[in-house]
Amino acid sequence: MSQDDPRRAIPRTDDLLARPAVHEAAARLGADAVRWVVTTTQERARRGDIGPEAVAEVVESELAGRTALSLRPVLNATGILVHTNLGRAPLSAAARDAVHTAGGYVDVELDLSTGRRSGRGEAARAALLAACPDAEDALVVNNGAAALLLATAALAAGREAVISRGELIEIGAGFRLPELIESGGARLVEVGSTNRTHLVDYVDAVGEHTGCVLKVHPSNYRVEGFTAAVSVSELHQALPQTPVVADLGSGLLHPEPALPDEPDVSSALRAGAALVLVSGDKLLGGPQAGVLFGRADVVSRLRSHPLARALRVDKLTLAAIEATLVGPPPPVRRWLAADPDALRTRTERLATRLRDGGIDVEVVAHDGRVGGGGAPGFPLPGWALRVPVEVAAALRTGEPAVLARLHDGACLIDLRCVEEADDERLLTAVVVASGRP
Ligand SMILES: *Cc1c(COP(=O)(O)O)cnc(C)c1O
Repeated sequence: MSQDDPRRAIPRTDDLLARPAVHEAAARLGADAVRWVVTTTQERARRGDIGPEAVAEVVESELAGRTALSLRPVLNATGILVHTNLGRAPLSAAARDAVHTAGGYVDVELDLSTGRRSGRGEAARAALLAACPDAEDALVVNNGAAALLLATAALAAGREAVISRGELIEIGAGFRLPELIESGGARLVEVGSTNRTHLVDYVDAVGEHTGCVLKVHPSNYRVEGFTAAVSVSELHQALPQTPVVADLGSGLLHPEPALPDEPDVSSALRAGAALVLVSGDKLLGGPQAGVLFGRADVVSRLRSHPLARALRVDKLTLAAIEATLVGPPPPVRRWLAADPDALRTRTERLATRLRDGGIDVEVVAHDGRVGGGGAPGFPLPGWALRVPVEVAAALRTGEPAVLARLHDGACLIDLRCVEEADDERLLTAVVVASGRP
């Protein structure tokens, strides 16, 4: 390097690390990550990609606003309660606090009064049983698919699980329940047809090799027209010796008047199901989890199965489940019950403010949905702001990020799944996205 080589002007590592903005970023991101940004930027200057005088500025702008987490919060303006691409159910404030607490050392497997080891997840189990007194016992695993795998492996590995051809569903991303069940060692015996299955079909198929009968709720599609299905109650009455396993998916613990066709855990248990399976992050409104409710002897077989250890949940999930059930109703339950008139008032209020700012919007009737979590096609009447379709991309990439619904060549902004306290932020986001800051 000669005396007048411009590379001599590249700032030294120690000088860059000592700059206040860089020093502060190290507290958020760790020293190694910050040092990596510094050395790669110096490298760019040595290659001549940027001038030596720009190095400090480039380092600072690379680090500005960067945090250890790349996930970004999104305002869900789609009207879809359980939005798979947005992480399904958002946690209640109580459950978020619980996750924060559980992130440290906690007495998850310790009895502080005796100093001895205690059962894991006892508090979450107690909360589940208090919320669903029809269950004798409950067990939490990683997700709904894990619950189904554990149930069928424990009850029917090396034996047969009998299921209707109308219930052989794909749950998304190419994952099919039949393949999942067979991967656990149970052989599936399919009965009936896609649209009609009768009690006699099950009774003929059940025999000495049967481990369980499965009822899977088609939570993401509907078969309409000439159909027939057999209820849990009919199966239990006709086959009292065979455990009936009901995979309900969505996670309603009790009948929900707003969703008349959606099955619930208590009713399925009363009808005689030995086990009922639900997801934690659909209408239960909690974290990703699979919850198994059922008869004490059956749940106990599952708890001691080797797979139970592989499918168990961490302390964060146990904490979030407990707080979801013990605390105030989680967001998805509040939004399911949202009053259409109140939604209209909020929507009109935002529309007036936008029009005052010179932005042309319309208020239109818009149905919300439960989403991937259940009640396929069932409308939840509400309202939306209708803005030009081009606004959608600017909303997604703005701050805060807003996901709206694209429909009929327009961008629809539905307030159902937005906390009222966020209406101001949403308003600002729409103003900015409409190009009139
Ligand atoms: C959603 C669903 C599943 C899968 O549950 P995950 O929690 O997504 O693993 C299984 N069965 C039914 C009926 C479902 O609705």
